[in-house]
Amino acid sequence: MRTFEKSSKLDNVCYDVRGPVVDEAARMEESGIPILKLNIGNPAPFGFRAPESIIETMAENLKNTEGYSDSKGLLSARRAIEAYCRKKNLPNVGVNDIYTGNGVSELIVMVMQGLLNNGDEILMPSPDYPLWTAAANLAGGKPVHYVCDEASNWYPDIQDIRKKITDRTKGIVVINPNNPTGALYPREVLEEIVEVAREHELIIFADEIYDRLVMDGKEHISIASLAPDLFCITMNGLSKSHKIAGYRLGWMALSGNKDKARGYIEGLNMLSSMRLCSNVPAQAIVETALRDAGQPDEMILPGGRIYEQREYIYRALNDIPGITAKKPDAAFYIFPKIDTARFGIRDDEQFCLDFLKAKQVLLVHGGGFNLATPDHFRVVYLPEMGVLKEAMDKLAQFLDTYRQS
Ligand code: PLP
Repeated sequence: MRTFEKSSKLDNVCYDVRGPVVDEAARMEESGIPILKLNIGNPAPFGFRAPESIIETMAENLKNTEGYSDSKGLLSARRAIEAYCRKKNLPNVGVNDIYTGNGVSELIVMVMQGLLNNGDEILMPSPDYPLWTAAANLAGGKPVHYVCDEASNWYPDIQDIRKKITDRTKGIVVINPNNPTGALYPREVLEEIVEVAREHELIIFADEIYDRLVMDGKEHISIASLAPDLFCITMNGLSKSHKIAGYRLGWMALSGNKDKARGYIEGLNMLSSMRLCSNVPAQAIVETALRDAGQPDEMILPGGRIYEQREYIYRALNDIPGITAKKPDAAFYIFPKIDTARFGIRDDEQFCLDFLKAKQVLLVHGGGFNLATPDHFRVVYLPEMGVLKEAMDKLAQFLDTYRQS
């Protein structure tokens, strides 16, 4: 019998949003057991609604967004993104340097496909947003993970980055603010990364999708703004800040020294044309969405849901013996450390599976973010406060007696 296997291009790709823990949760739900889900960074199911103005704008534009747009996107959308890039001090960005995408996700795959030859290396953070690593592998490249150091607020370890550069390294991915740690990198750290990129002529890939979800009045600095002499690609989108992950709207902006990357840009234009264009009704809302981009959403201010839920989850986790967590500055994730010696943990995925089976709470193990040690897990603190409290009570009870066998 002829069977069909996945392409060998996928052999090195490790990316599955399912896996044994999520599969088990699905099985439990099918058999009628309710699950507390603290695993997905998707605001809408947790009562976060899109701003009305966005929905109205999309509805108004449905009739004139029926056709394909320019492959990079509607000029009106790219003009609004260009103005946003100016606000963030991205150097040398015009409308032709901006590409809209069906979410940042599509663009992550595109930029890796367009750049990497077999064996080319690309520096990625560990922990990472795992699509970056998977996209580099799919493109035939070799992701090389640099350490983000929990002891230094999860900032990238510059010495480690330097150690991992070879003559095949083409670029470095910087996710700031970070998923899964919630860290926001200060100017000094970004300047050090730029310096390394400058010395080794690396492309900087900046994933800044959480830049409008920074708390405590802190400032987000776009790394590309510090690197006018380098070639940078900065990614951003509306999934998180505007709570419209389902509308699929992201963008990327090429900045700095584009002469260095003429051939690469030609490849990006080919790939952009191959997908014709991104979802056009979603492009129609960009102008409206970015109009108030300087104003923080009330959800991240004191009294707002994300802010208050962060305060709670940070305290609640640190109150559990054997768990410690750094306070996140941004986004809606926290990445606690678990004392593996105390609980006999050797396998973090097994820990999440055991917790799910015992207490019906779904978390993601640290290994899912390409962390080498089995001592972390990620909590998405988007669910309502009541759900978070129930989940934290269950975690405390569970760990009171847990020993991994
Ligand atoms: N980049 C990071 C760091 C993310 O956390 C996510 C989604 O969780 C994405 C990109 C993908 O976002 P999009 O909905 O724009 O595809």
